[in-house]
Amino acid sequence: MVLPNPADIRVVARVRPQHKNELEKDVIVSTATNDSGATVKISNPKKESETYAFQFSGAYDQTATQQEIYEHEISPTIKSLFNGLDVTIFAYGSTGTGKTHTMRGGKSMADRGMIPRFLSGVYRRARKIVKDSDAATKVEVSLSYYEIYNDKVFDLFESPEDRTAAGLPLRDNGGKTVVVGLTERPCESLKEFETLYDQANVNRSTGATKLNASSSRSHAILRIRVSIITGDTMRSSVASAIDLAGSEDNRRTENRKDRMVESASINKSLFTLAKCVEAISRGDDRIPYRESKMTRILSLGQNNGVTVMILNLAPVRSFHLDTLSSLTFANRTRKIEVREIENEPVFRGCSRPVPNLAGTTIQRQPLR
Ligand code: ADP
Ligand code: MG
Repeated sequence: MVLPNPADIRVVARVRPQHKNELEKDVIVSTATNDSGATVKISNPKKESETYAFQFSGAYDQTATQQEIYEHEISPTIKSLFNGLDVTIFAYGSTGTGKTHTMRGGKSMADRGMIPRFLSGVYRRARKIVKDSDAATKVEVSLSYYEIYNDKVFDLFESPEDRTAAGLPLRDNGGKTVVVGLTERPCESLKEFETLYDQANVNRSTGATKLNASSSRSHAILRIRVSIITGDTMRSSVASAIDLAGSEDNRRTENRKDRMVESASINKSLFTLAKCVEAISRGDDRIPYRESKMTRILSLGQNNGVTVMILNLAPVRSFHLDTLSSLTFANRTRKIEVREIENEPVFRGCSRPVPNLAGTTIQRQPLR
């Protein structure tokens, strides 16, 4: 990967493998990569012979390993972090598309996700800096980890028993938004990180169960602060790794009142995120980050930084509408040639209008 300019945003798509009960004939998403970039294709739900093609900075198919994605997309951001830039890594997608797998991953070495790999890279670089410096240079790493559920902030380093219903308040502090009372833990090694992170993830799921909810409805945000101290000068930068709430349209599947509240706040924060990403990529002066707690805390676009968004996708037909709307969301940041759009597409058996596909290339050829 070429290192992006400050404030650049890189959007890459990752298609998860089919589950055992998902049939080959139901695969409707394909990827292609060539010199000019990467393309994700998906059939038109209304007319299978047509495909929509979306362009991204990178695209990974079902066979891509955690190591490949880390090496190409995430590892280069460590250099930026140590050069004083803030780094933001998002996983975006519907529930069941592989966000948690991508970010947290499984227990085996091969399955380890972007977050533990990133931390491992941070400690490796920190050791090298200390070893190579003749002055007394120190590198300190500290972590905070919280979730945002229904626009409320909960500390994941705290036991769910200690949570207050209102969550933690936000305060403006010299132009930056801080979460009042959020724990920040010094963390000296990868081993220490693993213990802290595992316990916090238990807190995440028990917290959700206590609220009779699912962790797929909260945004989980890990903040890694790296401070390089040389003599009496210190330079800090922050990496944020975010496992976002599922982006599926809950209106189609759920209509209980409490679920509606959740889905309204999920939609609002994801919509604000989209607007921020769009404004940053246009180079706007004003980024609407204050419109949701998630974007407000992240201060997206306030600092120079590097942002990578991993768009997680399921390959099969049962996710058709959600996949299309995820692709459209991610694609807002990119300018695409409009070739031809026929009638406004409407999905069969669904009163919801098709996501706005303006700007998308429609290719008249069979998908596979
Ligand atoms: P999400 O967090 O988006 O809801 P998960 O990460 O929980 O989705 O993934 C859903 C299921 O798919 C899990 O059982 C997960 O282990 C599996 N899965 C997702 N991505 C991959 C992958 N790249 N390789 C193997 N299994 C995957
Ligand atoms: Mg998840």
